[in-house]
Amino acid sequence: MIARALFLKGLGAAATIATGGIDVWDPLSPQIRVLVAYDTRGETPQVAADGTFSFGGKRWRGAPSTVGMPDGKMALVTTIDVDLYLQGVVPLESPPTWPAAALQAQAIVARTFALARRTLSRAWDVRADESDQRWGGVEAEHPAATAAIQASRGRTLLYGGGPAQVFYSSCCGGHTADSAAVWNGVPLPYLHGVDDPYCAPAPEYRWSRTVPLERAVAAFGSRTGGTLTGTALTDPDPTGRPRGVALLGTTVATIPVADFRRALGNDVVRSLWLRAVRIDATQAAPRLVIEGSGRGHGVGLCQWGARFFASTGASAAEIVAFYFPGTSLTNG
Ligand SMILES: [Zn+2]
Repeated sequence: MIARALFLKGLGAAATIATGGIDVWDPLSPQIRVLVAYDTRGETPQVAADGTFSFGGKRWRGAPSTVGMPDGKMALVTTIDVDLYLQGVVPLESPPTWPAAALQAQAIVARTFALARRTLSRAWDVRADESDQRWGGVEAEHPAATAAIQASRGRTLLYGGGPAQVFYSSCCGGHTADSAAVWNGVPLPYLHGVDDPYCAPAPEYRWSRTVPLERAVAAFGSRTGGTLTGTALTDPDPTGRPRGVALLGTTVATIPVADFRRALGNDVVRSLWLRAVRIDATQAAPRLVIEGSGRGHGVGLCQWGARFFASTGASAAEIVAFYFPGTSLTNG
């Protein structure tokens, strides 16, 4: 999921939609509009009698419609109960083998995320890809995730009378990130970051990667005079995450950590929490060594933390209250 610091608040259309001849409107599972494809390239969805339709080599749920876009493209949007949509979202985020409470927490957060995106300013509320939440359609569904969605039916996180602006990432590295520090967004009290004692057993709680120094020079050399001889981490935010990487060549350039990560790739720089960046010249080919904590942006729900917190017996309500302090959970 790629985060957005600001959302448009809006109202979802509350019409009853007939799917496969069955009215699926459920007041506990409001409908959302999901953009399956911005450009159908002339393909027509094939609607089946069971309420699914085929498009792009996959099966999807909901009532599909094509929408003409200002640039002349035809988009495919499906209108669907949010929980039917979540059935193809939750299994892609939290492995179905995880404890039920962790899956339920993921369902609550993904449901809140989707409902907070409802808007009248576009022909859709959420995209089906990772720019919002990845939706894998029918093939991605799993009974354990579906059970967690049903067990948490209607439950969302509220703040200030509306849906909370929630985020999640794989592993926070021991302290969730402050959304305002990461995205320069409006500070939200429930996204300041909390100390997380639960995710320490996660596979990428601590990580280290190396890249050839020449790759780093290629990426940043234009700002350091064509060489790279020293590094330092700078300007830690309130959670301890450095905001910048100072690179020394014939001049010094300080690169925001998000730009540093983008330049070297998410596969190398696993998170925004860097612990060390140093040059290793002991090898025949010098390398840049990068060490850090966690995986992903670190804001909001820590998925691995939720998994291990659930293993201690915590409920989904306790998990979301821990990661989003000050929000309230609707009863469903
Ligand atoms: Zn964590």
